[in-house]
Amino acid sequence: MNENKTNINWYPGHMAKTRREIEQDLKLIDVVIELLDARIPLSSRNPEIKKITNNKKKIIILNKSDMADEEMTKKWVAFLSKEAKVLVTDANTGKGIDKVSKAIDEIMKDEVEKQRARGIKNKTIRVMILGIPNVGKSSFINRISKKSALVVGNRPGVTRQKQWIRIGNNQELLDTPGVLWPKFESNEVALNLAFTGSIKDDLLEIVEIAYEFLKVNFEKHKENFINRYNLTPDELNDVENDSNKFYAIMKLIGRKRGALVKGNEIDDEKTARLILDDFRSTKLGRITLEEPK
Ligand code: GDP
Repeated sequence: MNENKTNINWYPGHMAKTRREIEQDLKLIDVVIELLDARIPLSSRNPEIKKITNNKKKIIILNKSDMADEEMTKKWVAFLSKEAKVLVTDANTGKGIDKVSKAIDEIMKDEVEKQRARGIKNKTIRVMILGIPNVGKSSFINRISKKSALVVGNRPGVTRQKQWIRIGNNQELLDTPGVLWPKFESNEVALNLAFTGSIKDDLLEIVEIAYEFLKVNFEKHKENFINRYNLTPDELNDVENDSNKFYAIMKLIGRKRGALVKGNEIDDEKTARLILDDFRSTKLGRITLEEPK
């Protein structure tokens, strides 16, 4: 799945094709799992997912929860629960994934009852994962495959062979996720995707991305920055009075962390990368970038 991450150019023609292919797959599917990044539940949502999955039963999963703020994740679960069943996972360690199968049974209960009344016993429930690149779809599927190990053999699909992974009693998961296009609509969304590393860093823009990151997050998560970079009250005071405060903060962090080029100049690019790496590896703490509105 990795090749999808950086090489797909989401032009309208490609989006239409993706949509058609996913809609084709969905004909075989009873339950859709929408995988989101717990740090950016809104920005990591495909804008058309509701239309695409229309009348399907749905589970929303907040993945990468190990990197998100726990209290904020609770708020997001409450918020999104108005719309669907919500689960929280960490696909790297597999935490939370054991709850998926039970949740599928729960939301399919009525349907299965109905079928049983009509004499259809043990109907296989088919499940598919959907999400934009980088939310953890492959990791999630790998985790589930390892746990269940039992791969159901090839079976004729509509247009191509499909592999199904058994994930529970009468439950099978399509082994390839649906890769949807990200939102492009606002600068804020683009920045959130850039901050989390879902959009590949462009070397030329990394300083700008880190600058914007500081602008949006420094005040909100000041303690995290103070702790990570040992910022003193005097240093904070100095940058506070600087006409270009956030650039001054970047310089300060660069100096404190020794991100220097020859002649003791602070290396902006190195500093920018360091700040973003610290966020993305949670060395800056577990930070959720979006709040439910
Ligand atoms: P996909 O593009 O949606 O298939 O995403 P991948 O499964 O390739 O994951 C993208 C990156 O995020 C990889 O580096 C994964 O190791 C990482 N990742 C996926 N899920 C999690 C998670 O729950 N927690 C953390 N910390 N990292 C994750």
